[in-house]
Amino acid sequence: MVKLFQTKKDMQLPKILILALTLTMLSCGSKNKKKEIPELEATAKTDIPFKYGVWITADATRDNADYATEFEKYKSAGIDEILINTNTSPELLQRLTPVAKEKGLKVHAWIMAMNRPGDSIALQHPEWYIVSRDGKSCFDNRPYVDYYQWLCPTRTASRNHVLGLVEGLAKVEGIESVHLDYIRFPDIFLPIGLLPKYNLKQDTEMAEYDFCYCDACISAFEKIHHKNPLESKNTAIDMEWKNFRLNAIKAIVDDAYEIVHKYNKNLTAAVFPYPEMADHMVRQRWDKWNIDEVYPMIYHGFYNEEIDWIGYATKQGVTDLKGKNVGLNTGVYLPPFKSAAELKEAIIQAKDNGAKGVTFFDGPALTAEYLKTIKETKASLK
Ligand SMILES: [Zn+2]
Repeated sequence: MVKLFQTKKDMQLPKILILALTLTMLSCGSKNKKKEIPELEATAKTDIPFKYGVWITADATRDNADYATEFEKYKSAGIDEILINTNTSPELLQRLTPVAKEKGLKVHAWIMAMNRPGDSIALQHPEWYIVSRDGKSCFDNRPYVDYYQWLCPTRTASRNHVLGLVEGLAKVEGIESVHLDYIRFPDIFLPIGLLPKYNLKQDTEMAEYDFCYCDACISAFEKIHHKNPLESKNTAIDMEWKNFRLNAIKAIVDDAYEIVHKYNKNLTAAVFPYPEMADHMVRQRWDKWNIDEVYPMIYHGFYNEEIDWIGYATKQGVTDLKGKNVGLNTGVYLPPFKSAAELKEAIIQAKDNGAKGVTFFDGPALTAEYLKTIKETKASLK
């Protein structure tokens, strides 16, 4: 990669961090159903075949026939579902969903939730953007990369804007879920594998990467805790302040859950590798959310880890979700794999450690060799 972080629009990077990147519903039905008969559903889950998915970013200038060819390529390799980023366009999603379904693929509407670079509506409201501990707004002062433009999860207008976008996608006929990405704060710590590319050292929580100290957040926090985090000697050990931010993200997810279920869709999300890690790096505690399925981005290359770490992280998340009837699909980032054999090992690690599926980032990185490996691995794991 030339840059660590690229925009998803360009499509080359991983989602997460994408930042990183210079850096279902499936099933399960409604939440009420889940709560009423969790054990029954959990048992039924064991009969569901291991599923395969791929993240892709749509390009409105490509025609349906071109997409039909691409979707056929995935389906014939054994892939079951696609997660499409249409840059939050319900129209483009509505156009492509029937094309994918015709090929036998399930469709998820992938949205960049709190990080909204170039959002024409949000840009009209500079106060909607998160503010760093050193007082700079993400509106015009972006951490790490130019496409980091994050909205405040507490301010009523900014959170309603995000939830409105979620609702627009949820209305699209035929999709399985709305799939939240960037549903978190910016990285207070970058993945260790990315630091050298930025020539960065992050031993502590640095003010310029620590958000959201906007007026709305400070005021809402003071109402509950009667103290101002800007007066704290060490915000990194102020648990109420951290928890406030974890809860702000959770509140948006929980509201999104209610919205998408009104349209009989599910809510899913691309999240950090496992809950403690997500909490530590990006203020995201996904094991506490109301959600149907999660797709942790277990991108070993970002963290200088080996293939078996994919199994380790998968197991962490699966264990934390036990009894909650939330499915976990292991997300893998293809560029660091050195061979098809490594990719096969990653799929097996995911399955053996309790994932219900594996999802690849991203479509263009699926070479003919990888597609063949996926097909063969799927057949051998039946
Ligand atoms: Zn704020």
